[in-house]
Formats: sequence, C-alpha cells, structure tokens
Amino acid sequence: MISFDGVEVTYPNGYQALKGISLDIPKGQFVVIVGLSGAGKSTLIRTINNLVVPSKGEVRVGGRSITRARGAELRKMRAGIGMIFQTYNLVKRTTVLRNVLSGRLGSAHPMASLLGLFPKSDLLMAHACLQRVGIPEKAYVRADALSGGQQQRVGIARALAQQPQVMLADEPVASLDPPTANAVMGDLKRITREDGITTLVNLHFIDMARDYADRIIGMRAGEVVFDGTPDEATDQV
Ligand code: ADP
Ligand code: ADP
Repeated sequence: MISFDGVEVTYPNGYQALKGISLDIPKGQFVVIVGLSGAGKSTLIRTINNLVVPSKGEVRVGGRSITRARGAELRKMRAGIGMIFQTYNLVKRTTVLRNVLSGRLGSAHPMASLLGLFPKSDLLMAHACLQRVGIPEKAYVRADALSGGQQQRVGIARALAQQPQVMLADEPVASLDPPTANAVMGDLKRITREDGITTLVNLHFIDMARDYADRIIGMRAGEVVFDGTPDEATDQV
C-alpha cells in the first residue's frame, strides 16, 4: 500500500534527515515507528503525503508516486491520507462537529464551512465518526472545552471523516497521561483495523509500540535500524 524506494531527505540547511529508506508496507498493517527525538520519524511520515519532498527516491501510495504527483492528482491522493497530530490541531473556538466536518471539505468550496453549508450525508457521517471514537455527545461542544484525550478523539474522527486508505499519526499520544494514551492508542488501532486502513504511528517509547504494533520500525539518525514484529523487538530495540 505504501512503498519507500531509496528515499533521502536533505533539508535546505544541508542536514540529511533520511539516508536512503526502502520499505514496503502492506494494506491494513498497523506500523509503529520508534526512535529518539531527531531520528527522522516525522520526516519519514511527512514524505508519505509529500509535505516533505524527498531529495532522492520516491514514495508510492496505492501504487502511485505521491512524490511525483502535482496539482489535482496530489490533492486527490492527500484526501485519501488522514493525519493525526501531537497537539490535535483543532480549531479551538468552534464546535467538535465542525472540526470533524472539516475532514470532509476536500472537494467542497472553502466558504462552505463558514456558511454552515454541508450536505446532510456529511453531517450524518460526522456524527457517525464521533460515535466511533466514543464521544457522540460532544458534537455541539466547543473543541477547547474538551480534555486532551477527547480532543485527540476528535482528531481521529476528523481524519476518519475523510474515509482514508492511509492514516498517519505523528506522536499522537505524547501529550496525554499514560492511561489516556493507552485508551486512545487502543481506539486508533481498533478503528483503523475495522476499516482496513494502513496506519503509521510515530511513538517515542518502545513499550507502547510493543502493545499495539503489527510491525515496529526503529529509526536512528535517518536510517532504519530495526524492522520486525513486537516479539522480535523485545531484545533488540
Ligand atoms: P518534533 O521533534 O516534535 O517533530 P521539532 O521541534 O523537531 O518537533 O520540529 C518542529 C518544526 O520545526 C518542524 O516543522 C520541523 O520540520 C522544524 N525543524 C526542526 N528542526 C529544524 C531545524 N534544524 N531547522 C529548521 N527547522 C527545523
Ligand atoms: P523525529 O520526528 O524523529 O524527532 P524529525 O524528522 O522531526 O525527527 O527530525 C529529524 C532531524 O531533521 C532533526 O535533527 C531535526 O532537527 C531535523 N529537521 C527537521 N525538520 C527540519 C527542517 N525543516 N530543516 C532542517 N532540519 C530539520
């Protein structure tokens, strides 16, 4: 579903953040990327939606090069890739429902959200996404009135509303206390599995990776230093 072919990233200041990554990630796999801060995890994830453009090599999603895609084709490919962020990136002063609906706006006119013009099917879908992340009753609450765990559930619901084939999560639970972090990771895994979504999650800590990953990829200084199952990771990472 996702393949990296000799992907190198050199930032404008000359720093080489990825040093030739080649990986194949099959459809439906739940992959956790672990490594210390600065290892290149965020950079790797961002090449998948072409937010970071490789200096060499390419990334293919569903068999098509997103690295080479431009214009309408790039927008269409990005619409199939949900993103979840460490600090949620919600619009704080508006409702949870509107935040979730913003995941549906790829093809709609930019003014639609301001005017409250959503197709009824999108509204129903947004409510269904909130149901799936366990906070259906929060639809009309302001996003910034929610706890951290609830805000990240909104982040997941917003990504789900895109009906993505791929989900990318950059340190999604790093701002949460351990019990909440576990609950959110459990929900993310369950929901992406139910929908057959191929998922990549960056985590700081190997313990949590072992509990949830189908596959663990360990990174250090821009290279893959481990690639295996949680069982294989026990002694090596
Ligand atoms: P994290 O490690 O959580 O990804 P960082 O603080 O490393 O957060 O990065 C925050 C932002 O700053 C990112 O957009 C990243 O691309 C950018 N950034 C990180 N390091 C540098 C750097 N040395 N020069 C310029 N931008 C950087
Ligand atoms: P991680 O997610 O594992 O913390 P990152 O991918 O954020 O790692 O960063 C990898 C390295 O690239 C870090 O040393 C970081 O400072 C550097 N970096 C990230 N973004 C930029 C940028 N925009 N410009 C220069 N260096 C960057």
